[in-house]
Amino acid sequence: MQYISTRGSIAPISFTKAVMMGLATDGGLLLPESIPTIDQNTLAAWRNLSYPELAFEVISRFADDIPATDLRELINRSYATFTHPEITPLVSHGDLHIMELFHGPTLAFKDVALQFLGNVFEYLLKQSGGKMNILGATSGDTGSAAIYGVRGKERIKIFILHPHKRVSPIQELQMTTVTDENVFNLAIRGTFDDGQAIVKGIFNDIDFKEAHQLGAVNSINWARILAQVVYYIYAALQLGDNSKSVDFSVPTGNFGDIFAGYVARRMLPHGTIGRLILATNENNLLTRFVQNGDYSLGSVVQTISPSMDIQVASNFERYLYYLLGEDAQKTAKAMQSFADNGKLHFDQGQQEKIRMDFVAQSTNEEETITTISDFYREHGYILDPHTAVGVNSALANRDADTPMVCLATAHPAKFAEAVDKAIGRDPEMPASFADLEQRPSRCEIIDAKVDAVRDFLAEHAL
Ligand SMILES: *Cc1c(COP(=O)(O)O)cnc(C)c1O
Repeated sequence: MQYISTRGSIAPISFTKAVMMGLATDGGLLLPESIPTIDQNTLAAWRNLSYPELAFEVISRFADDIPATDLRELINRSYATFTHPEITPLVSHGDLHIMELFHGPTLAFKDVALQFLGNVFEYLLKQSGGKMNILGATSGDTGSAAIYGVRGKERIKIFILHPHKRVSPIQELQMTTVTDENVFNLAIRGTFDDGQAIVKGIFNDIDFKEAHQLGAVNSINWARILAQVVYYIYAALQLGDNSKSVDFSVPTGNFGDIFAGYVARRMLPHGTIGRLILATNENNLLTRFVQNGDYSLGSVVQTISPSMDIQVASNFERYLYYLLGEDAQKTAKAMQSFADNGKLHFDQGQQEKIRMDFVAQSTNEEETITTISDFYREHGYILDPHTAVGVNSALANRDADTPMVCLATAHPAKFAEAVDKAIGRDPEMPASFADLEQRPSRCEIIDAKVDAVRDFLAEHAL
């Protein structure tokens, strides 16, 4: 299996090279040359596999340059950190099936991908004799999932910037209580935007970047998408059969998770996965795209589902490539036009195609709170605000004969304030985090200046 860039200006590369490259060197995103298809018999044979066994079957079709025994071991280790035996269990409430993706070490779905990515990075660096210093800025969630993905790993150090005292207490503790020697939490005296600007400034210093083998954590690494394809197939196997489709509702920010669903649908026999419902909060760039063919930048609004407060959907280009008929030249041109004008418009024919692929709906804050409280009253089950955005869209678009899976992307305890507002009490903290406040912690408080962070890196990097 070879990987190409959506902008067409790199020679095809292997899976392991694609993972190490992250963003394609021509500025595009990496995709497999073709998406492997699974026939009805193979799918039927997967029905009784455990999650890690299924993950191996799916991932090995894309990652054919890692020996099977090694890949199996990497996958098993990645999901051994989950606290539920089914890894991503389905629970049914009323007409909906909630797929709980939050049983990993940081209680959010990003663990499904980042536990795997961390192990793959370590494995490949051991083979090449290389090293990697990961640098990133976080507003909360991704930082902790990345830290847990690489804590204690050889040949990797991670430096995560967060705005001092401007992330929620639990988010801060989830990061700073990881005291492994290879983990550095830098609380900057500034905002999340300052953090992002600092990271960008340091990455733009090409000499420094090369000298320290700086790597990024972002949602564009192909291995992350690939790991997420697995749970769509896992759910479809449990709820569907030859004659019955399964629909999915996906709370969306960067277009990453729902793009994984799109890949899963293309892999499986026609009709296995039915509709993909793209659920956004007030930051509705993607909803406008699906409903009106309007992909144009707005300004970011802060909501109670902060991990979806995004206006540039970094994985969008991957879907755009398929929408434009797998034409890299057209994709590159469209992305250039978007960079110049901050918008793209799609014609009637393209809009029809987009609406065959996705249904979209935006949910505001009030509706999100109402969804959490109604669902709790009716089913005694607590949704986190991101999941609630998806559930609201699912209820509005449900087809009575088709099972509907709502992806639950975070544990409600991570967003206790919003939950409290909806149901009048805090959700319970899972046992694995009950002692969080008592744990030792380590964090550097540092000025929000490129030089200060660069000096810190130069001193502590591998
Ligand atoms: C990141 C995140 C999302 C959005 O996922 P994308 O892949 O960016 O679409 C949704 N919910 C939670 C809790 C997240 O952390």
